[in-house]
Amino acid sequence: MLTVKGVVLSQRTIGEQDRFIDILTAEYGVIEVLVKGAGKISSKTGSGSQLFAYSEFCLNDKKKGARILSSISPIQIFYGLRSSVSAVALASYFSQVIEFAVLPRAGTPEILRLMLNCLHFLAEGKIEEARLKAIFELRIAALLGFMPDVVMCRACGEYLPERLDFSVEDGYFVCHGCQSTEESLSHFVQMPAASLQAIRHIVLSDFEKIFAFRIGEHSCGPLYQFAEEFLGYHVDRKFPTLEFYRAVSGNQTQEANGQGS
Ligand SMILES: [Zn+2]
Repeated sequence: MLTVKGVVLSQRTIGEQDRFIDILTAEYGVIEVLVKGAGKISSKTGSGSQLFAYSEFCLNDKKKGARILSSISPIQIFYGLRSSVSAVALASYFSQVIEFAVLPRAGTPEILRLMLNCLHFLAEGKIEEARLKAIFELRIAALLGFMPDVVMCRACGEYLPERLDFSVEDGYFVCHGCQSTEESLSHFVQMPAASLQAIRHIVLSDFEKIFAFRIGEHSCGPLYQFAEEFLGYHVDRKFPTLEFYRAVSGNQTQEANGQGS
């Protein structure tokens, strides 16, 4: 018997009433659990095993690769997520990145913490989704070992150039003056100093601080673009859930336009 706390990342129904769920845990990475009778109306597993729930799971010993759920008690359900299609889409994208990139049996307390915090803010709706997405993408990239070099211009050593070009592939930046024509052939995201400062904040700050920073409206675009492209390039994968999030959040971005910086 194993007792473990985790977030439900995905679920697959098998047969009439059983279901496999993948959960993200601090101690064992992502593990697969068989929930017997999850489809029954009288199921006692109920809300604790639903998508994005954070619960304590009591699991029986492994049979054929998966552990079987014995009992469950929900800790946090994130009900607020259900009121927004784009919030659910974004949470699904976060889940898919984790399922793809986190190995089973690897200890992942920081990744669990990042996911729980992102779900919390998504459910509350207090942080703009596009910003939350960039924070998740950059921080998880750093946690997975893909840390961008945010120290200084690779060529001249300038700490905070007014404008700079950040390489998605190689993860370093050069200031505008140092950008050579040869370098501009590879993929760089142009950004102002404020976007660089936000990237530094997200990848270097203590965890408690990563969600709190100010950034002007014009510096958001390059930050969001770099975060998405950097993670996508380094985990080397296209995520269908990201396409879906783009599709459903497109309308909302229009509505959100014009908000102050
Ligand atoms: Zn330079």
